[in-house]
This record gives sequence, structure tokens and C-alpha cells, in this order.
Amino acid sequence: MPSEDLDLPAESWQWPESTWRGHVDSVRAGRRLTPDRWPGGARVAVALSFDSDHETIPLRDGETSPGRLAQGEYGARAGAPRILDLLARYSVPTTFFMPAVSALLHPEEARSYTRDGHELAVHGWIHERNMLLGRDDERELTARALDTLTTLTGQRPVGIRTPSWDFSESTLDIMLDLGFAYDSSLMADDEPYEIVAHGRPTGLVEIPVDWIRDDAPYFTMDRYGSVRPHSRPRDVGEIWRDEFDAAYRDGGVFQLTLHPHVIGHRSRLVVLRELLDHIGSHRDVWFATHAQLCDAARTCLDDTTSPSSPAPDAPEHP
Ligand SMILES: [Zn+2]
Repeated sequence: MPSEDLDLPAESWQWPESTWRGHVDSVRAGRRLTPDRWPGGARVAVALSFDSDHETIPLRDGETSPGRLAQGEYGARAGAPRILDLLARYSVPTTFFMPAVSALLHPEEARSYTRDGHELAVHGWIHERNMLLGRDDERELTARALDTLTTLTGQRPVGIRTPSWDFSESTLDIMLDLGFAYDSSLMADDEPYEIVAHGRPTGLVEIPVDWIRDDAPYFTMDRYGSVRPHSRPRDVGEIWRDEFDAAYRDGGVFQLTLHPHVIGHRSRLVVLRELLDHIGSHRDVWFATHAQLCDAARTCLDDTTSPSSPAPDAPEHP
């Protein structure tokens, strides 16, 4: 029998059970954290987020041409002010995840988020791909990003979204070590849950994302590639409306990830406005930052009488 650790078969179909089970168990969804009622008696929580990447995506890839950087600059110059104006008109608090380099390039914008009642949260240093980093580099960049946002705004962020929406072998430990209350990078559920590592509850709240509820996959294109995905903005708005409607029926969370340099264009921002009109036509909606949503979700962690990991559509026991 081959040693599992010293002589690991290269092909996944050769892995022993302990190997494939070990990979799956390293970061896992634990207890679902959906209270019976959201704050204020609301039946749905709406958590909008904006990833203010701006110039950091081309910079991360070493693309320094003014043409590429200008696409990111659009997010800061045109997108973010429009978005902040729209959110103010609808009195909607949201969360802005901002790479530290983006915040250093646009410090007044970073400060305006918290000044306007929104949340500013960590989104890496320069939108680095954490999967490619060694443990020390990943920790140092995450800590430096946290310190940078804290210094700029005077408020220490409590949340993090990895730029790549992925976890390296070190990511979870780093988040716990730096004292984050929640992460928002994983996709195991529609509702918040507690992250479990190798069967051990960590106390870290996950506010899940999904590519379905992200503007970038629908609207971005590779200029030199043969495939140019293009979606009609209102078709995308219909998907998000359906996601909200189902969350409302379920009494759950509607979470959305948008980018100022993507959604901030005139023909796309109209979809966000129409979505806010649609949501606003419902009663008992709680608009929350991700940090506020985390606090509400944590009440389930504190409530030891609530069942752990209830199945979403489990039949009622007689
Ligand atoms: Zn990003």
C-alpha cells in the first residue's frame, strides 16, 4: 500500500480516500447562519458590494500601458461617483472592497466610502492572485493592505474578499490570525455560513459570492481574443431580479458584486437603478453592509439552541 503523504499518486483518480476527502475538508461550509428574521423584522437581507479595483487589475498583470490603465481609471473617475450618488438617492448602505494600491491612488474616494456610511473592506494589496503566493508573502500583503486602509480612513476593516475569489493553503489561517470577522470569497451557499476547517468550526463567517451575481463575467471582454461575450444589460438585470425574488421568498440574503469600472457605465448603471426600484417596491427589506450582515449572521453562532447546518429544503419532521 503506497504511503499517502510521501508517495502521493499524481493522478486524482489514483488518490486514496484520505487524500480526496482531505482536500474537500480543508475549507468547508459549516452551519448556515440565517436567523428567523433579519433586523427590524425584515424578511430579506440585501447586501450590495462594489469591488473598487480600478487600475490594479492591469497593474497586477504588469500591464502598464495608459490605454489599459485608463479603463481602470474610469472606475474611479466616472463610475464610483455615479454609484455613490445613486446609493445616496436610495439611502442604501453597501460595502466597498478596495485593493490597498487602489486606495492609495484614490485616497479621497476611499475616505468618501466610510464618510457616506458605507463599509470599506480589504481586497488585497494590488489585486494579487493569492494562489500563486507563498505563505509569508500572502500574509505580509494582506496585513499591509489592512494597515493601509486603516490608516487612510481611521477605521479598521473587519471583512475581506480575496481578489481571486479563492483560498490558498494559507488564506484561512491568515484571515483568522489577522482577526477578520468575515470573508466574502467562497460559493458554497446562497446564505451566510460558518467556515469549518478539517471539521473544526472556525467562527469565521462566510458571506458567499457567485459569478451569477457579478457584473464582470457578463460585460468584460478580451480585446484580442476571438470570444467577445456581450450581454444586454437588462437581461443581466433580469437574472439579478430573479435572484432577489427567490431570496425574498426564502427569507434569505441577496448579495451582489459589482465593479465601478464595469457597472459604472451609463448603459449599465440603469440596470442597478431599476434593480433598486424593484427591491424598493417590496416591504420588509433590510439593506445591510457585509459587516452588518455578518453581525446578524453571528447571532446564529451565539445561539446554541439553533440547529446546526439545517438543510435548506429539508422536509418538516412530524
Ligand atoms: Zn477585484
